[in-house]
Amino acid sequence: MIVEMAKGVGVEEVDGVVQRAKALGFQVQLNLGTDKIVVAILGGHTGQVSTDTFAVLPGVESVTRIMKPYKLASREFKSENTVVSVGGVEIGGERVVVMAGPCAVESEAQLMEAAEAVKEAGAAVLRGGAFKPRTSPFSFQGLEEKGLELLAKARERFQIPVVTEVVDPHDVDLVAGAADILQVGARNMQNFTLLTNVGKSQRPVLLKRGFSSTITEWLTAADYLLAEGNNQVILCERGIRTFEDSIRFSLDVTSVPVVKKFSHLPLIVDPSHAAGHYSLVPALAKAAVAAGVDGLLIEVHPNPKEALVDGLQSLTLSDFAQLMEELRSIAKAVGRYL
Ligand code: PEP
Ligand code: MN
Repeated sequence: MIVEMAKGVGVEEVDGVVQRAKALGFQVQLNLGTDKIVVAILGGHTGQVSTDTFAVLPGVESVTRIMKPYKLASREFKSENTVVSVGGVEIGGERVVVMAGPCAVESEAQLMEAAEAVKEAGAAVLRGGAFKPRTSPFSFQGLEEKGLELLAKARERFQIPVVTEVVDPHDVDLVAGAADILQVGARNMQNFTLLTNVGKSQRPVLLKRGFSSTITEWLTAADYLLAEGNNQVILCERGIRTFEDSIRFSLDVTSVPVVKKFSHLPLIVDPSHAAGHYSLVPALAKAAVAAGVDGLLIEVHPNPKEALVDGLQSLTLSDFAQLMEELRSIAKAVGRYL
């Protein structure tokens, strides 16, 4: 951390910063410039201390971090890529892993039809929400335990791993009973109790980016999972809120190379929740694969017109199969396969 002192401060103010840093177990280096004094605060645990700790001290003009607040998710901590293995499927390897299925599990017939078709088209993981985090309490909240049972059934019948969301920190074991990958949704990215419990479960986790979160906040949230000794963390970019209102969320494709640069964790993209409309999903999915993602999370429904949740952004079974075909050549062009 770099503490820049205001112009003309006295020895007392500088000493105040030095003493505070030392009391917290840091080392300090002083840079006595002709104009200003800069105090460098050094130590492995500066990420645990807020910049405000120094910003409030008399004579301090600004405080800047040089170390990132996240550690375990960073490339400095682990330089080689992490590969998460789920029921024989590797996420973070050469294959672009497609996870597909309905937004919400609605019925046995709907889920089985979707599962069979997405597997046939080449999806490696089945998605389906049993517990839905809805903006309104009056919207369909998911089939809950019945939904988990259906997911477990589809998993058995089609021999395909399942990803599903857990919204309540108390439900982690329950959801882990049916899911191969526990999804933490955008709205819960900073639900730290949930993150800690999901971390403790030692189950692979799909951590979505909060739609108002920076990449740094997202990777710091991943540290909550990793801090519990759970190394099987997959990140998922799903679009962020910007001033643009012609789409549901702005897909931040930029986060793909940025996350790859700063983190060793595998990263997938969810084009469906960004697009908000089925017609936009293919282009976003292709852009993500071209940018170098390790996988995609795509909403697919046997009959989107009848969907209880997110029908407008869901692909039909045949549109999904066609998209998979189109993605194959893009994957090949960037040295991957689907
Ligand atoms: C979902 O995947 O169904 C979902 C609710 O996504 P998000 O958390 O990204 O909104
Ligand atoms: Mn959805």
